[in-house]
Amino acid sequence: MAKSIQAIRGMNDILPHQTPLWQMAEQAIRDAVSSFGYSEIRMPIVESTDLFKRSIGEVTDIVEKEMYTFEDRNGDSLTLRPEGTACCVRAGNQHGLLYNQEQRLWYTGPMFRHERPQKGRYRQFHQFGVEVYGIGDADADAEVLLLSQHLWQKLGMQDHVRLEINTLGDHAERATYRDLLIAFLEQHLDVLDEDAKRRMYSNPLRVLDTKNPAIQAILIDAPKLSECLGEESKQHFSKLCELLELAGIKYQINERLVRGLDYYNRTVFEWVTDSLGAQGTVLAGGRYDGLVEQLGGKATPAVGFAMGIERLVLMLEALELTENVKPVVDVYLTAMGDEAQQQSFIMSQKLRLAHPTLRIMKHCGGGNFKKQMKKADRSGASIALILGQDEIENQKVSVKYLREDKPQVTLSYAELSELLNGL
Ligand code: ATP
Ligand code: MG
Repeated sequence: MAKSIQAIRGMNDILPHQTPLWQMAEQAIRDAVSSFGYSEIRMPIVESTDLFKRSIGEVTDIVEKEMYTFEDRNGDSLTLRPEGTACCVRAGNQHGLLYNQEQRLWYTGPMFRHERPQKGRYRQFHQFGVEVYGIGDADADAEVLLLSQHLWQKLGMQDHVRLEINTLGDHAERATYRDLLIAFLEQHLDVLDEDAKRRMYSNPLRVLDTKNPAIQAILIDAPKLSECLGEESKQHFSKLCELLELAGIKYQINERLVRGLDYYNRTVFEWVTDSLGAQGTVLAGGRYDGLVEQLGGKATPAVGFAMGIERLVLMLEALELTENVKPVVDVYLTAMGDEAQQQSFIMSQKLRLAHPTLRIMKHCGGGNFKKQMKKADRSGASIALILGQDEIENQKVSVKYLREDKPQVTLSYAELSELLNGL
């Protein structure tokens, strides 16, 4: 037997029994962004490697060790996108969507990072993200958070996620803080691990979100970024907090929250959950006012977030929030005898046209009553329609209830139509 070929490690098939839940989650996402009037943007999956190096930052987990980078046949260095924000800014700049304009955009699609695969962490995963351009005011930060909260509510998850926020100030304030933090870290070299030592000069803020308990312990006494903030940054943050309170969105300020990407300024946030184990961040984002200019556009304020759809789906499963998952088939049409087979073929299509929201599957391949009923049951349909010689002669259809304890009935076409309208 030939050796079978397997999928790439960390890259998952989403199988037919899983897609109904995915579709429910994706529908909730589409409904949420549409309630807020956001427009969809679709970007390519492959971009120039430089795009990510220049935006995410050279000294970040993503660029240092997670990118799928390769040379194409012309010798250009290309990368499978590890995230969507840089791509969105690239597209916005290229097509003149950003300067002096407001854009409220959303996207979804696969992202690629060469990480160690584990629950909630994969090499191909899917993100949903929103990006708002042209609004520097904190009400835009509050709006994207309200949108995310709206999504939790739609999915019934609002009691299982909590919001952490922080402010990183502007670039000058962060530079001041950087120096203070480096000076502090230099006094604790004996405690720092390799990662922290490597980063303390190039990206010292990243040391703050270390998972190493010994370093976490010394960081309790580290200088605080909040002490370096100027008046404008403070006001921006307090306006955000005020709007969140007005909207009834509970939050915790976490001064250690710095995010793994370089482009953030001022607001950063994460929605976290306890129902996923180690991979507890479901949605993360913040403001990135400098990125558009850094990527060659004219200075444009921006704020956005990205959510991992796998983690969302894992949460929905763990919390058993699956009652809105739609079955793939509602009605299964069976037929006994040659004439009925032919008639049912035509009837199935008439029913689809008359009841466009129903999912109607017609049995194919013949077989006896028992075999056809078995397939009807397996399809997940709530009813089976039966067309036999008797039914054809009397212009009727029999209905067998597959999930309810009700007797089989024989209906006229008009009665059938009424029944289907009620499904
Ligand atoms: P983490 O700290 O978990 O590595 P991150 O800071 O790298 O996350 P972002 O780049 O902010 O994550 O991506 C936003 C969201 O995308 C995350 O909160 C998570 O839900 C999801 N995500 C990120 N990396 C992965 C991955 N490898 N597999 C599945 N989901 C992911
Ligand atoms: Mg990561």
